[in-house]
Amino acid sequence: MKITGDQQLIKKMNKSIVLDTIRQRQPLSRADISAGIGLNKATVSSLVSELIDSNLVTEIGPGESSGGRKPTLLLFNKNAGFAIGIDIRVSDLLAILVDLEGNVLHEKSVSLTDFSPEKVLEQVRKTILLLKRKLPESPYGIVGIGIGVPGLVNEKNRVVSAPNLGWDNVDLAGALAAEFSDNIHIDNEANAGAIGEKLYGAGRDSLNLIYLSLGVGIGSGIIVGGELYRGTSNFSGEVGHMTIAENGPLCRCGNRGCWETLASEKALLDRAAALDEHDEAPNLESIMKAAKQGDPAAVSLLNEIGSQLGVGLANLVNILNPELIVIGNRLSLAGELFEDAMLRTIESRSLSYHRKKTHVDFAKLGIRSTALGAASMPITAFLTDPDVTID
Ligand SMILES: [Zn+2]
Repeated sequence: MKITGDQQLIKKMNKSIVLDTIRQRQPLSRADISAGIGLNKATVSSLVSELIDSNLVTEIGPGESSGGRKPTLLLFNKNAGFAIGIDIRVSDLLAILVDLEGNVLHEKSVSLTDFSPEKVLEQVRKTILLLKRKLPESPYGIVGIGIGVPGLVNEKNRVVSAPNLGWDNVDLAGALAAEFSDNIHIDNEANAGAIGEKLYGAGRDSLNLIYLSLGVGIGSGIIVGGELYRGTSNFSGEVGHMTIAENGPLCRCGNRGCWETLASEKALLDRAAALDEHDEAPNLESIMKAAKQGDPAAVSLLNEIGSQLGVGLANLVNILNPELIVIGNRLSLAGELFEDAMLRTIESRSLSYHRKKTHVDFAKLGIRSTALGAASMPITAFLTDPDVTID
């Protein structure tokens, strides 16, 4: 019998659903899958056989029987292949090698001094090669690469603008494709961070969440109904440029009083530098240390950052009524020092019905949220279409 294009597509979709069910609910039997997704047992068995042949699923010893023969249980083979996730930040890049369930096998961070696209690309290449040397034996090798960048990335995988790196229109994926993989995903760092926390971190059980990336600037990734909200041109989430103070400090975007001029790591350091009579420029670590020792200036700086964060967050709570807000990136390291002021301000400024069910949490993945989210993108693409092999 000739299989038509439609049948091919349906088979591919069913296979992907079966694989997804095994990943979510493992260990489980063929009968469990059949009952769980409503496909008949013969179809499930045939799809499972194909998944076993392609090394994505393995069988383990018999499970509990409800009478009769004990069923063989199935497991997702998380070591069938690996992915690389990279977070390009303003001071350094963080690269991780993960298995197909996002467990980190190796990690490498490299400091960046020259941000020209050529130099950064060279560092990215070197780091990928270094991680590839740590790669365990596996059927698929590297299935793909994901990279988060602090800037705008369009729907064609191209970095349109990354002001903190001085980049305009950079095709990172194109530059790496020939050497490494066609399965390369470039995304805004906050979008990648949101996906990382949703899949592996604080947002696992939340369908509607905002991941707030507090770094040199402020960005966000907005997840609605379990999916990233990307906007019309893939540029959603630039909450750092909400106007909070009409005549506030001048922002790098040309506007005045943007949220990130008042509540980012850079805002904190700028204020600390203005107060400090010493020659040495303060950094986040030194301010945190001073605040922990009770230094009144440091405590008051962090309280001020906390309340400015709360002002913007109250706006987001009123607009989006999220279930969860996850605070991530560098400044979240000082979370416990500004949390009270931030929560107090959200409480006093947001609408009571809106904030009732909103929780505020800090990133569970620490500074790895973006790298893990970036690595998950090629994994998702690979597992949605497991017959396409790369590397
Ligand atoms: Zn701005």
